[in-house]
Amino acid sequence: MKYDIENIWIDCCEQLKSILSDDIYDRWIAVIQPLNIEDQQLKLAVANDFYKDWLEENYLPLIDKSLILIGHADIKAVIEVDVAQFNESTAVEHKTVEVPKSNKTSRRSGHKNKSNLNPAYTFESFVIGENNQFAHAAAMAAATSPSRTYNPLFIYGGVGLGKTHLMQAIGNHVQQHKSRSRVCYITCESFTNEYIDALQNNNVSAFRKKYRKVDLLLIDDIQFLDGKNRLQEEFFHTFNSLFESHKQIILTSDRTPSEMAGLAPRLVSRFEWGLVTELIKPDVETRTAILRKKAAFMQVELDNTLIDYLAQRISSNIRSLEGALIRIATFSSLTQQPISLERVDQLLRDLIGKDESQPVSIDLIQKTVADFFDIRLTDITSKKRSKDIAWPRQIAMHLSRKLTQQSFPSIGNKFERNHATVLYAHEQVNSRAKQDRQLEQTLALITEKIKQSTHS
Ligand code: ADP
Ligand code: MG
Repeated sequence: MKYDIENIWIDCCEQLKSILSDDIYDRWIAVIQPLNIEDQQLKLAVANDFYKDWLEENYLPLIDKSLILIGHADIKAVIEVDVAQFNESTAVEHKTVEVPKSNKTSRRSGHKNKSNLNPAYTFESFVIGENNQFAHAAAMAAATSPSRTYNPLFIYGGVGLGKTHLMQAIGNHVQQHKSRSRVCYITCESFTNEYIDALQNNNVSAFRKKYRKVDLLLIDDIQFLDGKNRLQEEFFHTFNSLFESHKQIILTSDRTPSEMAGLAPRLVSRFEWGLVTELIKPDVETRTAILRKKAAFMQVELDNTLIDYLAQRISSNIRSLEGALIRIATFSSLTQQPISLERVDQLLRDLIGKDESQPVSIDLIQKTVADFFDIRLTDITSKKRSKDIAWPRQIAMHLSRKLTQQSFPSIGNKFERNHATVLYAHEQVNSRAKQDRQLEQTLALITEKIKQSTHS
């Protein structure tokens, strides 16, 4: 089998980038030069022993996991010192691969004639839940009878919720079942770059020909067209030409067609011709199922408590979930030890906790409320009954109920009161806030402060 080392390494880097902090990525990954792939070994060159040792000790398993995730479970990475690669006077003789830096979202442009699909993104590896069953069914329909059901199929939703996966699953399915079909996957950004290159090189007709002869066109992140008139014009003609010859078009976006303020009305209406379907956040059961599937796919063993814990903790998107899994798998394969939940917390905070907030604790609520009303924290749980203390205490009880969903008795424990007191406080504050705008705003402000401290 012939490997395309350049693209494999770029994909692998993108994967790593989504898991590691920018700093770590730039320091340890961006400095690597891929050399070759022989006997299913991806040889990676670094400048000296120090890098080699450090990478082997800390990041090699992560690189291997990333290779699996981009569909190359068949390849394992090895690190080598190769001074020549890094020696300026000789480096010119070697072909160097431009490694993506963390601060720019890179995607190669000008892609060759192959379909450009990640073989790991299939329907088989896609977990169906309530959040995506409709989009999944539509994608299946488009894959099994292209251009006869929904054309175009427009899939939208937030980041990391499976748009690219689902779209490529269609591509992989078609390629597998209709090998003669020409499938083309491209991000809208690359499509744009290619178009600009074509303009500069007087090559527009070749560009048009290329895209108008495909049977299945998959354009990812079409929101990139928003506000770009010239490009929209070009895309409009491509779209029409494919549509008229009954070719299937699949588009993804982070918003609906009508939410793209800078999109020409004729494109908005075309994007809505077929089916517009949404991917939303998965519920905890689906997250657990996805974790199980990914863990099996990545050949890591994690016990159920850990999987449940992760599924509970990380709810914003599936990419973060995956990142957490890789981190933990790597950690446990390095230490060869079972991993504790505290350790997991630590790992998540350092590396992927960026967009995840910690659950709100009653301690935090008590502290924030005490600060807000300028009373002492100990007053909150004290027996004092004066109004300037009793009222903040009731607010803290109310917010505890509202923000933590804990039971009245367990909130009572934290305040050294019984459950009836908490229930009473909760109802008091609730009914007063309904009539008192100022109180309502105060509650909103304190809630905001609490939420802010959970994002650190
Ligand atoms: P988006 O394009 O919406 O930002 P991706 O398609 O890149 O998201 O998905 C992010 C990661 O989550 C991918 O690795 C993908 O395989 C995984 N993923 C998303 N949804 C599912 C799902 N339903 N089942 C299994 N994996 C999923
Ligand atoms: Mg995507």
